[in-house]
Amino acid sequence: MLSKTMSRLNRRSFLAASAASAALVVRPAIGAPTPRATETDVVIVGAGAAGIAAARRIAAANRHFVMIEAADHIGGRCITDTRTFGVPFDLGAHWIHSPDVNPITKLTPRRGIEIYPAPASQKVRIGLRNARESELEDFLATQVRATRAIVDAARKGDGPCAQALPSDLGDWRSTVEFVLGPFACGKDLARLSAVDFVRIADRRADAFCRQGFGALLAGLAAGIPVQLSTPATSIDFGRGVEVQTPKGTIVARTGIVTVSTNVLASGRIRFTSESPQRVLDACATLSLGSYDHIALEFSGNPLGLESDDLVFEKSTDTHTGAILANVSGTSLCLIEVAGSFGRDLSAQDQATMVNFAGEWLAKLYGTDVKRAVKRAIATRWNADPLTLGAMSAAGPGGLAARRVLLEPLRDSVWFAGEAAHETLWGTVGGAWESGERAAEAVLRRLGGVREPVVEEQKPPPRKRKVVR
Ligand SMILES: Cc1cc2nc3c(=O)[nH]c(=O)nc-3n(C[C@H](O)[C@H](O)[C@H](O)COP(=O)(O)OP(=O)(O)OC[C@H]3O[C@@H](n4cnc5c(N)ncnc54)[C@H](O)[C@@H]3O)c2cc1C
Repeated sequence: MLSKTMSRLNRRSFLAASAASAALVVRPAIGAPTPRATETDVVIVGAGAAGIAAARRIAAANRHFVMIEAADHIGGRCITDTRTFGVPFDLGAHWIHSPDVNPITKLTPRRGIEIYPAPASQKVRIGLRNARESELEDFLATQVRATRAIVDAARKGDGPCAQALPSDLGDWRSTVEFVLGPFACGKDLARLSAVDFVRIADRRADAFCRQGFGALLAGLAAGIPVQLSTPATSIDFGRGVEVQTPKGTIVARTGIVTVSTNVLASGRIRFTSESPQRVLDACATLSLGSYDHIALEFSGNPLGLESDDLVFEKSTDTHTGAILANVSGTSLCLIEVAGSFGRDLSAQDQATMVNFAGEWLAKLYGTDVKRAVKRAIATRWNADPLTLGAMSAAGPGGLAARRVLLEPLRDSVWFAGEAAHETLWGTVGGAWESGERAAEAVLRRLGGVREPVVEEQKPPPRKRKVVR
């Protein structure tokens, strides 16, 4: 029974155990207000999963929109790098959770993209050896017990997940804490709301995209016009919506804002008409956790692992990580660091992160491993000014904050993004659904779908009868 449960536990599956575009409308900075005739229907801020989903929906309804993106590329936290290693390396999201119901896999084109199931089991390393079957069962039983305790505690009220843990988790405590907290949600259990945690939708199975999750998302954005390198600096929603950018002002009837909660809370985008204090407070409660990949390209397969093997360490403290080995059959291995330890590590520099990965692997697989590293880089999402972290996770008492993000500002501005989803938060699928939901709300406000403008069909010129 336990082995069966064990074989189904993957990243974040722990709960299973228990249109058209318009050009920028540049308005003079000072002077009498210009007529608003040139406004567009919707302005979308941010071209990550949520922004792309919203744009597709609005384009399909034949409404005009302008989508602006601060970076010089689309994708946000779901982007694939193929240059560094010559093989796809997902800098952000990589796991496709619940592929059978994931909104993105449903849209995946049949050609050029391969989605395949993630291995159904995981491994645990104890010092220099693999855990035995009986030890794995013990670990998974402990994990199930810890999860159930959090579920039970959440039924009585909210509090930190850590407080709900049974006191007798023994020498698996540190590993279970890492898997449920930093690895699954980007935050330590002490900083996670039990109620928010148990609402995570059941994620029994996972899949990977051989070309990269970011490549898959980019394919879904094909043909959608985006104004790149165009950051929103301020938003006014007093009379319609006006978004200021260094390239000019966009005037729109409605807006969809998809930037991360940490970007919103940082004040990098000013709200000039009035401060949406409730939203900014919600963003602070839903602050982003820390999660980074340290990518090591090996010569050969010094860890002796199979394609996409997931390995945890039986750890004794928080200085640990997870290994995702031989990504999609390549010699690329990802060392995943997260939570407060990951945050402290990434606050230093890439070299320190790579050094940690080498030392940590040497402890688990022997010192020869370090010599087999050909190239290495590390992501540092907390330092990226356009995201400032990895994924939102509510602190204790923070559940209501997600609902605040579902409410529009003056029926003009809607928020979308992974944080604005009550059960799929922290995922690309959640961001996508929230973008679609915001687009639907905007379309209702605009009066619905507009019929496509069909060019008036002129009758074909009558052929002259040739008189001979
Ligand atoms: C390391 C890591 C690993 C992850 N692993 C997984 C995983 O395995 N599976 C999974 O499902 N999810 C995972 N996630 C989470 C997932 O990546 C996110 O939930 C999702 O991509 C968020 O999409 P979004 O559209 O809400 O936000 P974003 O992707 O952040 O999009 C917002 C966009 O707004 C832009 N922007 C910011 N400021 C401005 C501005 N002022 N003006 C205009 N544009 C602006 C940003 O550049 C960005 O492109 C991971 C995240 C990270 C960081």
